[in-house]
Amino acid sequence: MSELPYKIVIGLEVHVQLATQSKLFCRCSTQFGAPPNTQTCPVCSGMPGALPVLNREAYRMAVRAALALNCEIPEFTKWDRKQYYYPDLPKGYQISQFDLPMSQHGHLAISDPKNRFEPKRVGIIRAHLEEDAGKSMHDEQAGTADSRIDLNRCGTPLLEIVSEPEMYSPEEAKAYLTELKLLLTYLEVSDCNMQEGSLRVDANVNLHIPDPEAADGPPIATPIVEVKNMNSFRAVERALHYEADRQWEVWQESHQRLGDVPKQTRGWDENAEITRGQRSKEESSDYRYFPDPDLVPVVMSAKETAEIRNQLGELPAALRKRLEETYGIKPYDSDVLVNQGRALVDYYIELAEQCGDGKLASNWVQQDVLRLLNEREISIDDYAVRPSAFAELLAKVQDGKLDTSRGREVLAEMIEAGLSVADAMEKLGIAEVDDSELVELCQSLIAANPKIVADIQAGNLKAAGALIGQAKKQNPNVNPSRVRELCIELSSEAS
Ligand code: ZN
Ligand code: MN
Repeated sequence: MSELPYKIVIGLEVHVQLATQSKLFCRCSTQFGAPPNTQTCPVCSGMPGALPVLNREAYRMAVRAALALNCEIPEFTKWDRKQYYYPDLPKGYQISQFDLPMSQHGHLAISDPKNRFEPKRVGIIRAHLEEDAGKSMHDEQAGTADSRIDLNRCGTPLLEIVSEPEMYSPEEAKAYLTELKLLLTYLEVSDCNMQEGSLRVDANVNLHIPDPEAADGPPIATPIVEVKNMNSFRAVERALHYEADRQWEVWQESHQRLGDVPKQTRGWDENAEITRGQRSKEESSDYRYFPDPDLVPVVMSAKETAEIRNQLGELPAALRKRLEETYGIKPYDSDVLVNQGRALVDYYIELAEQCGDGKLASNWVQQDVLRLLNEREISIDDYAVRPSAFAELLAKVQDGKLDTSRGREVLAEMIEAGLSVADAMEKLGIAEVDDSELVELCQSLIAANPKIVADIQAGNLKAAGALIGQAKKQNPNVNPSRVRELCIELSSEAS
């Protein structure tokens, strides 16, 4: 990283909707996109006297995520009411967790295949479960400033994951979010769809500036700003860059320190690419938390926690390591593959096993398979060529019967016409060239190119490349590595 006159300090607060069928304290559906207010009941719409009952499945899902984040799971936790007034919160409070969260003291390991920062662990202060609020819909199209409320989202289970302020660049923050999303997706606890609001990010950011009057003393910390309203990881990265620059300018003019002013909340304006001041942030005392008298505390036995831990399965970090160790691929490549999700990794593993060359399989999957999946917006399950047929094709590439570009042509036929390797090669007129025919061809090339032959004789073996090109022009089916071999052999014999 370039040398900045300050250190950026970032902590992230992520809200993730859990992928349960029903809500956290009632049986209403959590399905996204239903007509407004069709998935509500007296409990989630806040009718007086309606009683909430915990959805145990949501709780187990939250524990699953917390364990994967290396958190401690206490055997006892409870629910608290967080009071605030907003039109999309009909009860006037959110059921959340205050002093006894369902998990705490975890960490998430992040690294950067591009080496912009050293691999590190980011601490997780806590992860707790709470209910979501509804949505305000502003009818800007009609131009009437007409706002309506949709309560379908009210009561959807949310896992709030709070990191330590331990990320020191926008790139680290983005890597944390990317890894967190990947982990939660592998765990199948959330679809993490930012567009639909299943994953929402708030970022706390300030600067630590070396004290010019006490070089060995603690750095000067500028006031912390909470940035909201970012709807992609890219937006988070850009908002943090902007905010660091802005805080540096404010510091140079005002010399405001942490404690001089209350914590400020600013919203990211995607179009203007700036953050704008919003209401000042409530302190937790403003929420007047108190235990929810309608809900019993949750008891989670060590046995049940252990059971959930045993069912976590192979998580992204372990999977990357296995791919690198078993198939000899680089961290950059294992990262690309694992980021595509488990189904693609399974496809890759099957291919690597069958063709016996993990690097070759990785190259073809990344360059050819992924490109097509992206172009057609399909998943690996809909990819026409199964690993066994793909491995057959790679075997032809491995023993030199096909070079990469001809291999691609064959693959295209296999995809478009659903042909086997053999049929695709026949259709393209790719026939194996008899070795005696090849010897004849090379002899004629040697005779016609004395200058190149002299080069090869002088030890410049690269010169043989020109002969391969000529051979392919005469017969596109020739095996380039065999042509090279023959040309070098025949050159040494030539006078
Ligand atoms: Zn309900
Ligand atoms: Mn929250």
